[in-house]
Amino acid sequence: MSKLSVFPVSMKVAGRSILIVGGGIEALNKARLALKTDARVLVVAPELDAGFDGLNVRRRAGSAEAADFEDAALVFVATEDDAARDRAIAMARAAGVPLNVVDQPDLCDFYTPAIVDRAPISVAISSEGAAPVLARTIRAQIEALLSPNTGALAALAGQLRVRVESLIEAGPARRRFYESLIGSGRVESALSASVPAARREALRLLNEHAGLANAKGIVSLVGAGPGSEDLLTIRAQRLLQEADVIVHDQLVPDGVIEMGRRDARRIPVGKAKGKHSVSQSEINDLLVDLGKKNLHVVRLKSGDPMVFGRAHEELEALRKAGIAYQIVPGVTSALAAAADSATPVTLRGVASGVVFATAHGADDGELNHWAALAKGGVTLGLYMGKSVMARTARALIANGMGADMPVGVVVNAGRSDRFTGLASLRNLVEGGFSMPDGPAIIFIGHSVAKGEWEHLLSARNAQQKVA
Ligand code: SAH
Repeated sequence: MSKLSVFPVSMKVAGRSILIVGGGIEALNKARLALKTDARVLVVAPELDAGFDGLNVRRRAGSAEAADFEDAALVFVATEDDAARDRAIAMARAAGVPLNVVDQPDLCDFYTPAIVDRAPISVAISSEGAAPVLARTIRAQIEALLSPNTGALAALAGQLRVRVESLIEAGPARRRFYESLIGSGRVESALSASVPAARREALRLLNEHAGLANAKGIVSLVGAGPGSEDLLTIRAQRLLQEADVIVHDQLVPDGVIEMGRRDARRIPVGKAKGKHSVSQSEINDLLVDLGKKNLHVVRLKSGDPMVFGRAHEELEALRKAGIAYQIVPGVTSALAAAADSATPVTLRGVASGVVFATAHGADDGELNHWAALAKGGVTLGLYMGKSVMARTARALIANGMGADMPVGVVVNAGRSDRFTGLASLRNLVEGGFSMPDGPAIIFIGHSVAKGEWEHLLSARNAQQKVA
């Protein structure tokens, strides 16, 4: 990844001056930027453009002098007179004042970003001069994103700070107050009416939070979806941003975990097949301990938390300990697999329903039941079945399912490296084909034949490695 050649900072200018050398249109643009701040703006030029009339700037006719630089926080040199420009540059350097020379990036100490102004909030977008039009487009997007009240809200939060500090201890509870202040629709709509009204709403919220500050934490069981960042729900994303701790499964990829708040602690509790690094009861205890510490815990589970997610055990432990919880659904892998393979898991006249089941540890009675269901037109979506595929297929045939019953396998559903392959029960029994490593969903049923599959899996092309 390429690196920035600039370091964005917010320069203090209050009580100081911003000096602009030049009086043309470029100088006027810089003056307008400078006037967004409460610095004194001093413009020095032999002549000023008419656009300066009525602007709250100090102006001096003539050329810049060393004294003009004494108190300056920043200097913009925007004159077409080369001699005046060189003198101004030399004086700025001598005075050690950071310098911007219009259209001369080589001579600049700093660039001027495109600015979104919601004082006291500011957003500066810089492209290091590489793509100013793109920077302006991004600014327009951010302008649209931020409510006009953003600045007033930030100011309100600032005014409440001392009060908040006296009522709510530093840490997660305090952060939660600010998060709900920022997200409060009531404060936002009060702000549109008047600042005092908004202040009253904010104080009400503060009192509620001060009362809650001693309550225990909350554990959110959050579905992370099948593994792509953009298949997370917006709610999941918000909770990840609010989390103090993220406890995640091994199946949740790094990209998703990285969407969490930067300072959140991350605890992997991977239960990869065959190697149980942390037992379920240890996970339950961990969630209870963290919840008791007044932390916001996000328990991130692949797919949907209520589908083969051991959610029940975790919820039971939380209930028993009296810890608050919430559940956020996610895209379960079978539905991501259906999308990847364009398989209509229900289809009028073909599949009257769909069953999510696990092939892992299925006993004969269950297999018999599934065989009857699939024969009767139900699509089976099997989880955790890859290693027992052949055995499951054999048992289904033994239980009366046709050997030609279509089977679809989706590995790494919902991810860019997904694999989709079509086979039949007979092919599964014969085995021998290869597919990529990774978690898999196995669809069985007549609806599978209606999907779009990239690979045909059969013992005949067994030797042909599928990438
Ligand atoms: N709660 C998860 C399931 C966890 S059980 C969900 O709703 O998806 C683990 C099993 O889920 C794996 O053995 C595999 O069968 C399936 N699985 C999880 N992620 C998958 C993915 N990206 N593609 C295909 N199958 C997946």
